[in-house]
Amino acid sequence: MKIHSFAGTASAISTIIREMRDVNIQADRFRFRSNLEKIGELFAYEISKQLRYKPVEVETPLGFSKCYELEDDVVIAGILRAGLPMLNGMLRIMDYAEGAFISAYRQHHKDGSFEVNLQYVTSPDITGKVLIMVDPMLATGSSIETSLEALKACGEPSHIHIVSAIASTPGINYINRLYKKAELWIGAQDDELTARSYIVPGLGDAGDLSFGNKLQE
Ligand code: URA
Repeated sequence: MKIHSFAGTASAISTIIREMRDVNIQADRFRFRSNLEKIGELFAYEISKQLRYKPVEVETPLGFSKCYELEDDVVIAGILRAGLPMLNGMLRIMDYAEGAFISAYRQHHKDGSFEVNLQYVTSPDITGKVLIMVDPMLATGSSIETSLEALKACGEPSHIHIVSAIASTPGINYINRLYKKAELWIGAQDDELTARSYIVPGLGDAGDLSFGNKLQE
């Protein structure tokens, strides 16, 4: 798997992630969501450089200009809830893309382990299209695995990109073993997971920070 890591690089991405991690800033839900949207926009721009284009000539009022027209069809898939702001940001840049939604949540057991509960998938046909799977926090990789496996019923994409703001080292290794042909885009990498599989130092629960603390365990 090709990994595009922006970890350790000082850039717009690292500045946004710093704000999202900071306990004194992240409590502002509007700002947290807006930061996730911005990360989505920046990754959409980076991924856009990997898509296929054909040269076209465009008439301007003053002459002709050689431009590029996108040839790929793109589907951006997000996992509810936490994936929504990043998906929204990506769609702002890739406004031609279709969207897929996966409702998958962690059902925790008392010992800290969990299973990913898949409730529904709504997706266009992804056959032959570029699939971009968005999950802001790649912890164990099991939500991404559940989502990508569920999307297999919707066709075989020409290529898969997986995008996460923060990824754990064990999660990266897990996804790497399963999806060798995919490309992974990450903004930061943290080495540890808690007993409940939260990323350390991470930023906490991206869904709760975006939309409020959930009642469900
Ligand atoms: N999901 C989150 O929101 N945070 C984590 O640390 C792991 C999964």
